[in-house]
Amino acid sequence: MNFNEELRDIKNYSAGKPIELVVREFGIDAKDVIKLASNENPYGSSPKVIDALKQICNKIHLYPDDSMYKLKEGLSKRFGVLDSNIIIGAGSDQILEFIVRAKSNKNSKVLMAKTTFAMYEIYAKAVGTKILKTISDTHNLDEFLEIYNNEKDIKIIFLCLPNNPLGESIEKNKVYKFLENIDNDTLVVIDGAYQEYAAFKDKDMKINPSDIIKKFPNTIYLGTFSKAYGLGGMRVGYGIAQNDIISTLMKLRPPFNITTLSLEAAVEALKDGAFVQNSIKNNFLQMKRYEKFASDLNINFIPSYTNFITFLLKNDKNSTCIADSLLKKGIIIRDLKTYGLNAVRITVGTKEENSKFFSIFSIIYNAG
Ligand SMILES: *Cc1c(COP(=O)(O)O)cnc(C)c1O
Repeated sequence: MNFNEELRDIKNYSAGKPIELVVREFGIDAKDVIKLASNENPYGSSPKVIDALKQICNKIHLYPDDSMYKLKEGLSKRFGVLDSNIIIGAGSDQILEFIVRAKSNKNSKVLMAKTTFAMYEIYAKAVGTKILKTISDTHNLDEFLEIYNNEKDIKIIFLCLPNNPLGESIEKNKVYKFLENIDNDTLVVIDGAYQEYAAFKDKDMKINPSDIIKKFPNTIYLGTFSKAYGLGGMRVGYGIAQNDIISTLMKLRPPFNITTLSLEAAVEALKDGAFVQNSIKNNFLQMKRYEKFASDLNINFIPSYTNFITFLLKNDKNSTCIADSLLKKGIIIRDLKTYGLNAVRITVGTKEENSKFFSIFSIIYNAG
């Protein structure tokens, strides 16, 4: 059967491997498998979320509140914006899809960093848009601007701040300076999936959604409950932008696009700021161990503003071999070969998980 030709050369997003796969393939007990592959919160979810979910299990025969009133109310208080500035998605991923469908087509272009979140390219390819990337792997705003000024019809610019899978971020002031050069008709997506971590590490990196959309009405800020909020399994994300952008994206939103349980979980997660702050603080402390570990082994890494760290391996080491050897020992990390890099991305786990990772990784690394 023939399908739309745009889909022909899309490579499927390769998600982090699930624990079940390691159990099946290597016969390792599920409790002994450590998943450091998908940047989930290793401290789980807030106990308040779990309690609230138990309370509403008898409501799942009903569709959720499609206005998502309670969640929008929580987010509007948190960020100091109006309900009409917010859209909720099944993960911020779904909002990325709405953005691409709303703003780009066969005749337009999108611009992104060379090595960034793979879904930008996948959604853009699906609508036949031309994809432009910077030369540098990490975000270099001078390169973004040069390409932007030399090309016509760039309709979307993706800034992943901090960037997945490399971990770097950019100071707010530099982002603002950059945005001053961008036309009103180019939508700039600020993907803030890891902003909570960046803001904790360095206040200068913190991008405030209400501030940025007021100064630059052509921006949309994306956030997610999948990382610091500990709700990866619930699939909830949000977009914050001026009303004209949100009302357009809302036309593409299917009804009831997140579940009754997801909605409740997100509302409760927002209320438990202490859980989130604690997760972020622990991440910061554990990250220091990773930096020291890498330095001790003489491995290059990019200083990270997220809950993962990327090791850039030298030519005599092979990221795929290392990731495969770790997998056989029950440790799942992310090989970045699919991004064309001899590098591995490791989600920072709990203290115990990280200790186990260090001991097994150093044996494999020194042998390989
Ligand atoms: C995890 C992540 C997202 C969003 O994930 P969802 O689970 O779909 O909300 C978006 N962008 C980046 C860069 C991410 O790493």
